[in-house]
Amino acid sequence: KELLLRVRGLKKWFPVKSTLGRTINHVKAINSVSFDLYEGETFGLVGESGCGKSTTGRSILRLIEPTEGEILYRGQNLLELKGSELRSVRQEMQMVFQDPHSSLDPKKRIGYAIEEPMIIHRLGTKEERTQKVFELLHKVGFSKEYYYRYPHELSGGQRQRVGLARALALNPKLIVCDEPVSALDVSIQSQVINLLQEIQAELGLSYLFVAHDLSVVRHIADRVGVMYLGQLVEQAPTEQLFSQPLHPYTKSLLSAVPIPNPKIKRERILLQGDVPSPLNPPSGCIFHTRCPFAMERCRTEVPQNKEISIHHYVQCHLYDETHEHH
Ligand code: SF4
Ligand code: MG
Repeated sequence: KELLLRVRGLKKWFPVKSTLGRTINHVKAINSVSFDLYEGETFGLVGESGCGKSTTGRSILRLIEPTEGEILYRGQNLLELKGSELRSVRQEMQMVFQDPHSSLDPKKRIGYAIEEPMIIHRLGTKEERTQKVFELLHKVGFSKEYYYRYPHELSGGQRQRVGLARALALNPKLIVCDEPVSALDVSIQSQVINLLQEIQAELGLSYLFVAHDLSVVRHIADRVGVMYLGQLVEQAPTEQLFSQPLHPYTKSLLSAVPIPNPKIKRERILLQGDVPSPLNPPSGCIFHTRCPFAMERCRTEVPQNKEISIHHYVQCHLYDETHEHH
C-alpha cells in the first residue's frame, strides 16, 4: 500500500494569556504526535475526551494551525504550502463531524448542502453539479426526493449520511471522521459504519477515524493509535493492539471493556487519580502519575517511541532494551 499521509512531531499548544495579554502558559493539546496513513486504510485514533485526538484531526486539515511538526501529504509538507497550492491539496482532504446538525444550515435544502462545497471550489457547471448531487444521494442510500428536504426533516443517522455525501462531493482521498457515530443510537451506528466501509472499498479512501468507543474502532480500523494527554503512547495493527496491548494505559483502557472471547484472560487495571491538566503535564513519562508500573526513571526520562514489532510502536520504559521486559 502507498503512503498517503505522514505526520511527524505534530504539536499544538494553545497560549493562555493573562488579563494584560501576556502569554503565561500553554495548553499542550498535542505534543509530538507521529503516525502514517496508507491509501485505502483506516487509522483509528482513540483516547478519553480531551486527549487531543480531535485536535490532531483538525490540525491535519489545518482547520487549526499546528504549532510545530510535519504533515506530509503524498510527500508534500502541508505546513509549507500556501494559497492555491494548499487549497488544491485540501480539496482531497475532507471531514465528517460528530454532530452533522452543526455542519448543516437549517435553512438550506439537502441538495444544496451537498452541492455547496462544489460551488465554493468552482467545480463543474450547474447541471454537472446537480447530476453529481443525485449520484451522491444515491451513494449514501437516499432516494431522489431527499434533494428537496431540510435538515430538520431528517434523523441523526440520515443527517450523518448527508454529511458524508457533502464530504464526498469534492472527490477526497482522505476523510477525517471525528466521532461520526458517537451521537447516534447503537442500532444506527452500525449502519453508518457499514456505509463508511462500503464507500471506502468502492473509492479507495483513507480514513482517520477519531473515536472514544473502542468497539467501534476495533470494527472499522486497520491500525489503531492510543492517545493520552496529547501523546500517541501506542499504535499497532488493530487485532494486535486488542490481543497484545503493551502500554499500561492501553491495557487499562482495554481492561475496562468486556472481551468477546472468554478464553482470553485479561488483568483488570484500575487507574488512580484523574488525567493531569494539559497546562502542566507530568515530566518524564506523561503517564507516570497514574501508571501502576511506574519506575523511578519514569518521572524524569521521556520514553522514546519504539517499534517493537512491525507497525507496533510503544512509548514506555518497560520496553527499553536495557531493561527487563514485564
Ligand atoms: Fe508506566 Fe513508566 Fe511505562 Fe510510563 S514509562 S507507562 S510510567 S512504566
Ligand atoms: Mg473530540
